[in-house]
Amino acid sequence: MKPKKSSTEKKRIILLGATGSIGSSTIKVLRNFPEEFQLVGISANTQTEALLEIAKEFKVPNIALTSPSSYKLGKIRNKERLILGNNALEELIEVTDADLVIVAIVGARALNPTLRAINKGMNIALANKELLVLGGSFVTEAVQKNRVQLLPIDSEHNAIFQCLQGYDPYNIKSIVLTASGGACRDLPLSSLSKVTPKEAQAHPNWSMGAKITIDSATMANKGLELIEARWLFDLKPEQLRVVIHPESTVHSFVEWIDGSVLAQLSPPDMTFAIQHCLFYPDKKENPTPSINFNKAFKCTFIPPDIKRYPCLDLAYQALKSEPFGGAIFNAANEIAVQRFLLGEIPFTNISKLIEKSLTNIKTPKELNLETLIELDSQTRDYALKQKIR
Ligand code: NAD
Ligand code: MG
Repeated sequence: MKPKKSSTEKKRIILLGATGSIGSSTIKVLRNFPEEFQLVGISANTQTEALLEIAKEFKVPNIALTSPSSYKLGKIRNKERLILGNNALEELIEVTDADLVIVAIVGARALNPTLRAINKGMNIALANKELLVLGGSFVTEAVQKNRVQLLPIDSEHNAIFQCLQGYDPYNIKSIVLTASGGACRDLPLSSLSKVTPKEAQAHPNWSMGAKITIDSATMANKGLELIEARWLFDLKPEQLRVVIHPESTVHSFVEWIDGSVLAQLSPPDMTFAIQHCLFYPDKKENPTPSINFNKAFKCTFIPPDIKRYPCLDLAYQALKSEPFGGAIFNAANEIAVQRFLLGEIPFTNISKLIEKSLTNIKTPKELNLETLIELDSQTRDYALKQKIR
């Protein structure tokens, strides 16, 4: 790990995915602490205008745009170093010195730039879960080798990370991830096949990007988070559990072998987890109001119904067929969500496409980054071609 900066120096931040939901929440936190942080690199896929606005407000020296459709506007409008193209994220990491990289882009595309950042000795605050589900073993190995911090932003994992402080993880009995149950939690089972993309995106508590909101409705998100937790906290499948908690106030539990259970609470707003990671191990006052104990409130916990959420079962199946199950689960789910959003497949076929992919795709004999990436693209091809109605 790099030597600690002097207290007068600002922490230098790269924000990958600055224009998304997590990106915007991060910008909100950074605005509250202009003396503490300096944004030195940002990226977006298509939202050139929004990216340039951020670059202007925070005087960001290096900016990266990945989607070709956005180049033209970027080229004529921008004075800063503008990095364009397929490898823009990797290049941004190469040319920018930072203390912390916030990984807030969506999908497995985040794996390569994150590995580059780790190998350059930068600490990581990770919102993206897909990269751990695809390449968790490579990421954790690189983190250990380079002695950098890997701080989880995902609210459940951030909660667990906070509950583990000071304790020996060897004594964990289980961790219990809380789940809101998503937009379709209270619909009759018989109507699930008719759910539209608009209905599935109406999340009851959290305001998030399109893909993760659909993942919440199917609970593929919780499935991805089980695999994410496996890598972050080095746990066995039987130590990983899920409970539905409609109020989204308790972000997860750690159950210890002595029967004691710890939890972390905050309102359903990602700025709490983001601020935690930005300052870790320090703490600073947060201007956003937290939980109000002067008002009565309820916390409900309900075991999940596997008939409603088959993706959860499939995630356990993927966990048990490590190291390749996660890669197949994630790639099949990314394609299934795209196809559902395009109106090509019904909501209930998202899980069917994942199941078919887990059953039929042959896994490679050898594990290395190339075979994993190949498996990821093979699964995407397979899931795209399946005629499943
Ligand atoms: P989003 O769709 O709102 O934003 C995604 C960002 O990534 C945008 O800046 C976009 O420009 C960029 N991007 C998209 N595709 C890209 C590509 N192919 N190459 C490079 N950049 C690309 O997503 P989000 O909801 O902010 O989620 C980001 C990640 O954080 C996801 O992995 C999600 O699972 C995780 N996460 C999100 C939340 C949340 O509250 N939104 C909570 C926990 C975890
Ligand atoms: Mg989460």
